[in-house]
Amino acid sequence: MPVPAKIVSVRSSPLLGATARILRRNKPSKPQSRGKVLMSSTTCNSGRLYPTKLAVLFLIAVGSTGDLQAQELTVADFKFDGPLGCAGATIEQLGTNHFKISLGANAPEVWEQPVPMGVWPNLLAFEIVRNARGNTLRIDTEHLTGGGGATEYAQSWSHDAENWTPIQWSGTTLNFPEFTEDTVFVGPQAPMSFEYIEKRMREWEKLPYFKTVNLGKSLMGRNLYRFEITNDQSPFPRKDRWVHYGANQHAGEGYAKWRMLGMMEWLLSEEGADARDRIISHFILMMAPDGPSQGWMRINAQGVDANRSYYPEGNGIDDHQNHFPEMFIPQPHNNQPHEAYIFQKDFEAMMASDSPVTCILSHHTWGGVVDPILIEDGGPEIGTSVGTWDDFKVIVDKYDVDNLVNTPWTRRVGRDKHELWTEGPYLQFGITAILVEGSKDLLTVDQNLKSGGVLMKSLAEFYAGTRGTSGD
Ligand SMILES: [Zn+2]
Repeated sequence: MPVPAKIVSVRSSPLLGATARILRRNKPSKPQSRGKVLMSSTTCNSGRLYPTKLAVLFLIAVGSTGDLQAQELTVADFKFDGPLGCAGATIEQLGTNHFKISLGANAPEVWEQPVPMGVWPNLLAFEIVRNARGNTLRIDTEHLTGGGGATEYAQSWSHDAENWTPIQWSGTTLNFPEFTEDTVFVGPQAPMSFEYIEKRMREWEKLPYFKTVNLGKSLMGRNLYRFEITNDQSPFPRKDRWVHYGANQHAGEGYAKWRMLGMMEWLLSEEGADARDRIISHFILMMAPDGPSQGWMRINAQGVDANRSYYPEGNGIDDHQNHFPEMFIPQPHNNQPHEAYIFQKDFEAMMASDSPVTCILSHHTWGGVVDPILIEDGGPEIGTSVGTWDDFKVIVDKYDVDNLVNTPWTRRVGRDKHELWTEGPYLQFGITAILVEGSKDLLTVDQNLKSGGVLMKSLAEFYAGTRGTSGD
């Protein structure tokens, strides 16, 4: 006998944010949350709350707690529009604690890429807002687009959105163990929400060598942050310090964000004190901050791949519409994707300052452990005021005692890769650029944090002394 369908449909407009519409059939009525809903519905019915009624309500609320916890999960317990969300997802119950989630296409009104990449399904992310404790969970997924990507990486789940446990796909199915708490968060790779970054930012801002620069707003209204770590009391003037700039372009690549956070934590630690004196380090933990709430792997709200957005000809000057006319929606700034325009403008201002960026790192994910790729020729300091790329490879291998990072390798500038945040700045300014890929096999937050520590420690050693003292 088939279980009656219970469907929650979540719709989203990429420009206006996610709005949930819940359609339920054969759904037993149940309070949405204890206390609050009971109070308001009673107020609605009676217009007035009497003390005796309040007492009865209290007893009902307390008495029903055990029942609520023991309840099986229903579609109404799932939420798809939180900080880690999945725009366009629909959910259907197939059996006891067994659901099917259909993943919508990313930014359905626009195309992420012209052919051949096509539209990707959104990544699976959701919350269970109540009733999880004591239940197991099986989620089958259905991908409504032909594109791949949603099951390419492991997922992670958490009871507190802080401590993440990896979970591997079995085909297109996830089988969760019995939950020990009522709320559950699920996201791609090891996820990091925009809200989590802001929470950590407020802690870091108490440190004297951490600074937040707010550059503007994303299309969906989130702040665009650049974090700067350096010691203002350093004996070396800013103009003499090395400057590194690392950014995550693809919002679905959580491992890359945790790797960068590991670089930051190393710099902010006791061990990073010398590096803080000699180096100015900039971090953009999220160039596409609208992505995690929507389940977008690579795009911004215009549907443009956030790592196909750099303009080596200069900020806002659009040569790319000639190459990819389908990709562009008219914008105030000559069609460059909105967030990229703001970040490149800031980057160019830094390049024109007395402490321009020496080395730019673009953080991504693919198979294996961390995979650093060095743009072959590098900037003017490579092999002159610092060592050669071969020296850098030796340093990375020396510090990578847990085998979290491949020996870096070099590649020439790709002819069709000018709009990447590695090749683009290299072509525009001739600076050193490193593409950091990999991490698919580093399933835990801890491994990714550690891999970032290895990278930052290696960079700090490779960039010895200062720009001023090394004669560059
Ligand atoms: Zn990427």
